[in-house]
Amino acid sequence: MFIPDHKVEEIRAASDIVDIVSDYVRMKKQGSNYFGLCPFHNEKTPSFSVNLSMGIYKCFGCSKVGNVFQFVMEMESIGFPEAVRMLAERAGIPLPEQEEDRQQASEIESIYHALRFAARFFYDQLTQTEAGKPALEYLTGRGFTPTTIKHFGLGYALDRWDALLKEAEQNHVTPEMLEKAGLVLSRKEGKGYYDRFRGRVIFPIFSHVGKVLGFGGRIMTATPDQPKYINSPETKVYNKSRVLYGLYQAKHAIRKSEEVILVEGYTDVIALHQAGVANVVASSGTALTPEQVKMIGRYARRVLLLYDADTAGADAALRGIDLVLSQGLSAYAIALPGGDDPDSYVRQHSGEAFQEYAKKHRQDFAAYIYGMARRRGQLDTPEGQAETMHVILASIARIPDPLMQETFMRRASEVLDVPDMQLRPVLSKLLQDQRNQVRREARREEIAPTAPRPPLPPLEATEASVQEQAPSAVQESEPLPQEKVLLRVMLEHGRPMLEFILNHMALEEFTAGPSREIVEILLQMYREGAIETQRFFDGSFSDAVQRLAAGVLVDRYEPSENWALRKISVPRINEDPQMAATSAMRLLKLIRVKTAIDQHKEKMYRASQGQEDLLALQSELMHLLELKKQIDRREFLQWNAS
Ligand SMILES: [Zn+2]
Repeated sequence: MFIPDHKVEEIRAASDIVDIVSDYVRMKKQGSNYFGLCPFHNEKTPSFSVNLSMGIYKCFGCSKVGNVFQFVMEMESIGFPEAVRMLAERAGIPLPEQEEDRQQASEIESIYHALRFAARFFYDQLTQTEAGKPALEYLTGRGFTPTTIKHFGLGYALDRWDALLKEAEQNHVTPEMLEKAGLVLSRKEGKGYYDRFRGRVIFPIFSHVGKVLGFGGRIMTATPDQPKYINSPETKVYNKSRVLYGLYQAKHAIRKSEEVILVEGYTDVIALHQAGVANVVASSGTALTPEQVKMIGRYARRVLLLYDADTAGADAALRGIDLVLSQGLSAYAIALPGGDDPDSYVRQHSGEAFQEYAKKHRQDFAAYIYGMARRRGQLDTPEGQAETMHVILASIARIPDPLMQETFMRRASEVLDVPDMQLRPVLSKLLQDQRNQVRREARREEIAPTAPRPPLPPLEATEASVQEQAPSAVQESEPLPQEKVLLRVMLEHGRPMLEFILNHMALEEFTAGPSREIVEILLQMYREGAIETQRFFDGSFSDAVQRLAAGVLVDRYEPSENWALRKISVPRINEDPQMAATSAMRLLKLIRVKTAIDQHKEKMYRASQGQEDLLALQSELMHLLELKKQIDRREFLQWNAS
C-alpha cells in the first residue's frame, strides 16, 4: 500500500502520542514528560517516558525509542502500513482503499477485513431486515436500546447455512479468509464451507483499540441440543487470553475512575454500561488470565470482582484476587444479593442503585476470603481457621509492593483477629518459599557467561586522533553531557539555534559516532532548507542516532535537576536556551582543549627523549594554552565562523 508522505505526516500530527500510549500504559505527568511502566520490558518503577511536544517515547531501562507509528507497530506486531491505517482510522483521516491494495495487504489485514465485513453484515441483518426482527425484539425485550445496540455493534446471524458466505462472496471476501477469521467451517464431506454462526444474536468482540477480533453468538430460545453460546475459535488475530470484552467501550471510564468492575458475561457488561456504569469488562471465553490483568493494569489501580455467590463463582473470585494482587493492583470482591446477576439487578433497580450497593458492600480481599470461609463453616474448627489464615497470607505474599504488603498485613490481623506478631512468621515463610521458587526457575534458565570487556584503547586512539582513523575504527563513544545540551537545543529550536551553535563549533568537536552524525544530519537538513526533527524518529537514520536524539529530548529528570545531579552549572535550558548553549559550548571546548594539552605534554615527554621536534611542539602547546584562556573568557563567541 502506498501512502504519500504528506498523508503520513498528517496522521502523525493528528495522533496524540500520550493518548495512544495510554491505551497500553498507565501514564503520569512529571515535569514536561509523561512516565509509566515500560510495555517492552518488565519493571517495577517507571522508566518509560513520552515527550508530547516532540511526539516520541523513550525507555531508560531497555532504551527503546520511537514515534507513535513505531509504538503501535511494536505493541500490535504490525507493519508500518497497518500502523498508519490504524492511526488514520482512529484520527478519522480517510485513506484511499483500493482493490489492488487489499490484494497486496498482508494476511492479517485480510482477516481483519473479513471480521469487519462480517460485523457490519450481522449488524445490518439485525437492524434493517425483516428476518432480523425477532432478534431485534428479543434484544429490545431485554431492555437494550438502539444506541446500546449500535455502541456494542450487536448483530444477528440468519438461520441459514450460507448467508454470510454468499454475501461475502459478492464483496470479494473469500471463503478461505472467512475460515481464517473463524467465521465459516469447511464441510467434512465434499467441498465447500458453511457459516459458523446461524440463528443467533451476535456479540462482536473488539480489541481495546476497536478492531473486531471475533464473535460470540447467543441462542434466543433454549434448545436442548444447542449450547447457549458459541464463540469464535482462536485465530491469528484473536487470542482469548489477551482480550477483555467491553474494554474498548470502557477504557475511558476506567482510566477516569482508576477502577474496573470485572463481570462474567457479555450481557452483564452491556447492561451495566447502559445503566451508566461504564467501567465494566468481562473476560470472554476463558477464566481470567494474567495477560488480561496486565491489560487492566494499564488503566486501573483497583479491580472489583463481581461474581455469582455460588461455589464456582466464589472460587473464580479467589483465583481472580490472586491474579490481581500479583500484578500490583488492589482487589475487591462483591456478590449481588439473592442470586441476582448485574443484568437483572440494574433492570430491577438502577445504575445508581448498583453503584450504591457496590460502594457499600464491596470487601477488600482479606474480608472477602474470611467471609466466604465463615459462610462455608470453615471457621468452626481450628484447622479451618488456620487454613483461612493461610489463604489470606498467601494472597498477601503475592503483592509485589512491600508497602502495600505491610498495609494488608495490618488488615489481615484485624480481619482474622489474630495479633500481627503471630502472622509475621507465616508470611516470612511464604515469602521465602516464593524466593526459592524464583531462584529454582532462574537456575533452570541457564545464564550465559558475560562477554569479556574489550581492552582499553591505546593512548593515541583518544579524541584528538579520532579524525585520522578510518571510519570503521571510530569508536562510538558516549557523548558528553554538554554535547547533549547542544544537540537538544538544536533539535528543539531548529534553524536559528543551529546557526548560533555551528558558527562557534566545529563538527570535530562533537564526539565521533551518533552525536557527530546528528550534527551532520542537521547540517544537511539546514542546507536543504528545512529542519525536520521528526525525521530522527521515523526510522530514516540508524538506531544509535534515533536513540541519542530521543535521549537528549526526553530527559529522565527535569533538566535543572539533572544537571545539578551531575554538578554541571547550566542555566535552565528551557528558560534561556541561548545562554545554556553558550555555557555548554564553553565547557565542551574547555574539555577538548584540556585533552589536547594533556596529549601534547605526553608527546613532549617522549620528544625530550630525542625523537621528535621539541620546539615545534612547544609552540603548539603555547597556542593551546592561549586557546584555553580565550575559551575561558568566552572569546570564542567573537571568533570568525569557519
Ligand atoms: Zn523498557
